[in-house]
Amino acid sequence: MIIQRHFYYGKRQAQILHTRLRTQCSSLNYDLYQKNITDSPMCRCGSIENLQHFLLNCPYYHDIRQDLLQTITQIPEANVQLLVNGNINLLLYGNKSLTYEINIKIFHAIQSYILRSKRFYLDSIDNIDVHVRSPVDAWFPIGIHLTDISPFQV
Ligand SMILES: [Zn+2]
Repeated sequence: MIIQRHFYYGKRQAQILHTRLRTQCSSLNYDLYQKNITDSPMCRCGSIENLQHFLLNCPYYHDIRQDLLQTITQIPEANVQLLVNGNINLLLYGNKSLTYEINIKIFHAIQSYILRSKRFYLDSIDNIDVHVRSPVDAWFPIGIHLTDISPFQV
């Protein structure tokens, strides 16, 4: 399995929140409700607070959403795909048919939206400043680096 390079883009806190949304492990009420952590999936605006609602529909984030959509619509290759039936996969995953440069523009825009929404609480562990790990390092547990592995070990 090859993890595409753009998944390593972004500030640590934004990466964590973006990933939680992607994997349905966020603190959106619908995600919490699905795991029996809350007793209601509803948003404070009165709709079900699922991922699509948070990203595309909730009136509380109307202003920052305009910035997000403006950025996306300025990327011709991305724009066409985003507008297909309100598909949010582009915002969650990027698209491997697009270049790295375009994918990180998309990731930057959506991660900015996530942070600016102030919807998600980051606990103190999340705020530890983890040094940037390269895609190669990511294959090894934290604390073990390629240089620690002797080429003579079998
Ligand atoms: Zn809402």
